[in-house]
Amino acid sequence: MHASPHLTALVERLTLEQKVRLLTGGSVWSLQDEPAVGLRPIVVSDGPTGVRGAAVDDRDPSASLPSASSASATWDLEQVRRLGALIAAEARAKNVDVVLGPTVNLHRSPRGGRHFEAFSEDPYLTGEFGAAYVGAVQAHGVATTAKHYVANDSETDRFTVDVHADERTLRELYLAPFERMVGAGAWLVMSAYNGVNGAPMSANPLLRDPLKDEWGFDGVVVSDWGAVHDTDASAASGQDLVMPGPQGPWGEALVEAVKEGRVPEAAIDEKVARLLLLASRVGALEGAPEAIAVQPWEDAAIAELLRETAADGMVLARNDGTLPVEPRDGLTVAVLGQHARRARAQGGGSAAVFPRGVVTPLDGLRRAFGDANVTFAPGLPPADELHPFTRGQVTDPITGTPGVHVRYLDQDGTVFAEDTTPSGRLAWLGDPRLARAARIELTTRVTAERDGRHDLGFAGVGGFTLDIDGETAAAEQLSPTGEDPLTAVMNPPSVTVSRELTRGRTVELRLTYRPSLMGGYPFGLVLLGTEDVFGDPAEELRRAVGAAAAADVAVVVVGTTEAIESEGFDRPRLTLPEGQDELVRRVREANPRTVVVVNSGAPVIMPWLDEVAAVVLSWFPGQEFGDALADVLTGAREPGGRLPTTWPAREEDVPVWTVEPQDGRLAYPEGLHIGYRAWLKREQDGGPAPALPFGSGLGYTTWEIGEPAVTAAGDGLVVEADVVNTGSRPGKQVLQAYLSRPGSAVERPVAWLAGFAAVRADAGGRVRARLEIAPRAFQHWDVDAHAWVTESGAFTLRVATSVADPGHTVTVTPGT
Ligand code: BGC
Repeated sequence: MHASPHLTALVERLTLEQKVRLLTGGSVWSLQDEPAVGLRPIVVSDGPTGVRGAAVDDRDPSASLPSASSASATWDLEQVRRLGALIAAEARAKNVDVVLGPTVNLHRSPRGGRHFEAFSEDPYLTGEFGAAYVGAVQAHGVATTAKHYVANDSETDRFTVDVHADERTLRELYLAPFERMVGAGAWLVMSAYNGVNGAPMSANPLLRDPLKDEWGFDGVVVSDWGAVHDTDASAASGQDLVMPGPQGPWGEALVEAVKEGRVPEAAIDEKVARLLLLASRVGALEGAPEAIAVQPWEDAAIAELLRETAADGMVLARNDGTLPVEPRDGLTVAVLGQHARRARAQGGGSAAVFPRGVVTPLDGLRRAFGDANVTFAPGLPPADELHPFTRGQVTDPITGTPGVHVRYLDQDGTVFAEDTTPSGRLAWLGDPRLARAARIELTTRVTAERDGRHDLGFAGVGGFTLDIDGETAAAEQLSPTGEDPLTAVMNPPSVTVSRELTRGRTVELRLTYRPSLMGGYPFGLVLLGTEDVFGDPAEELRRAVGAAAAADVAVVVVGTTEAIESEGFDRPRLTLPEGQDELVRRVREANPRTVVVVNSGAPVIMPWLDEVAAVVLSWFPGQEFGDALADVLTGAREPGGRLPTTWPAREEDVPVWTVEPQDGRLAYPEGLHIGYRAWLKREQDGGPAPALPFGSGLGYTTWEIGEPAVTAAGDGLVVEADVVNTGSRPGKQVLQAYLSRPGSAVERPVAWLAGFAAVRADAGGRVRARLEIAPRAFQHWDVDAHAWVTESGAFTLRVATSVADPGHTVTVTPGT
């Protein structure tokens, strides 16, 4: 990297100690300042589906956007650009300079725990979505971070696993989206926890070549949180910045390493120059242009965009004509399943944000069909989850304002801080009050909203005493479950006690928390709330089936839970949690007009797929979930989604299943053949077809697609085709171009995605779709030449509406 003379001069002003200090974070979410060069601390935040900011609870709410697999299901880059503009505004509103996203790892196996956070199984689609995100956010002067470089495609043993993949596979699949992000100008890349081919990614040669040398990345390589464990190897590699801080393996040890000649000072200078360039880009350096002003968005504008994009990503996987269901007088709807009221609007782990509220499917459907016409029954026992009291449910007994009163007490019992927090979720990350407190007391009043049993309780790690109306109801020491520190804190163990309460009765709760900090790190989470109360399971199931039988239409909402689909672990099974398939079948028996909504971030097995009237895949669609779902079910909006990843019919059909390392190594023996490429390869040999192919999805209208016209555009192509809406409703169609190369001299996927275009047309309307096919689509990585090579001769280009659609085929020759 050639730093500008100005930045070089700034670097020269600093001592070795000053320079090295800048290369480890100043806190969990910020970098160090350096007055000597006019540098203020740069603030970073997760990311990528919202901007959480420093608070990990409800004190500073954030917009919760559709997760990546929902956003990419729109196949519409314009949607992600609009989401990017919102991300930038959210970042600015929270004084955040750097968003830790997008995640551009691949859906190598559907079992991957962070599947929801990544766009697709296809590297091209992933790259296009990531690039649109990067461009849209950075246009507002807020930095983005392409993560996690590279091959962090599953979670099992994520801190230590060493992924083994050959060079061509890395280049054509896993590195490809990062190359695209660098091309789109990403200002940071996050190195992954895992290793690749023998070296941890925080000290891996891939950080230099191809990232910095070949691709010319001029930004900052930030470590994943806590990923750097050594001094010399990581500092001598392309790793620029260690997070979090201020403690870490660089610091004084790195100053020594430089003094002893083990790490060249030039390497330090380069890292600092990169950091200062980032600072000048985000407006954190005196003398550089100020940060671009970005206006905050009104709540209504946020809700409208999120409602529209969520609906645009919902995939109609099956429809016998039952959908859309237009609301009319007297039409009754039975809404069934726990997910209808405890929706998963987003995935768990570091991507989680804390929105002001979530519109659940039940809320949305009640609004759309009218309260009186909607019945609800959960049908199945709730997941063992404590739901923190929400805003508005609790009152601070000291101040009388909404919320929970929090007092921090010293060893000697002196209160050294107190405040009111809006909900029953409290988290402290890098908060000195947590480190100092011997006890933290949470006091609140809550009023019963119904008659009957209430399971009140708490969750966290540490010592707890719960008093209800002045009497001790529970006293427990709770230890973390699992070894991943993030999941231990984010999914803590819980304790509840039952109380019979009549509606309107107010109780006063006092929770005394004695923190026990994991590894001494000031990171704690406490939940105060309730668990859903559930009756006799057989009786509850009967109630749900009865409600379905009595209604005109039944909507069953099923899905994954935080315990099976989240960061920090992979899914052992792809089946839905126990009882959900049975619930669907029983409801279907009771009502032929049964619509199933699948609320998961990744594929699940749907054994009843062909038996029910309609199936909508909602993904994790963000805070406007329920309204977006109601729009889709009523036909107010088209279900715009197409699958960005293949959905299998059976677990045993999944081409890439293994995510468990053997002796610390995880091989990628399938090479180039993941996702639909693997399915196509096996189908050629008589293997099974998936339940839902890549790129597929239905709508509410019909289409005719004309013959594609192909013209040369440099070394690439432009493909155009007429798309006619032959139905009676407005709709959306996604044209996809797949290339293949029969008789290729090199091994190839059977077909690969090379371009796509989302188009919309009114009933009877005609639009001309335009798909750009980049030169790279024709190239393969030649290991001997260490270069991208275009095989001469003809390729087959298919323009279709999914990978399984025969579509229109033409023969093309790039560059002619
Ligand atoms: C995740 C990153 C995240 C970081 C900070 C890590 O555990 O892998 O994606 O940005 O934590 O929260």
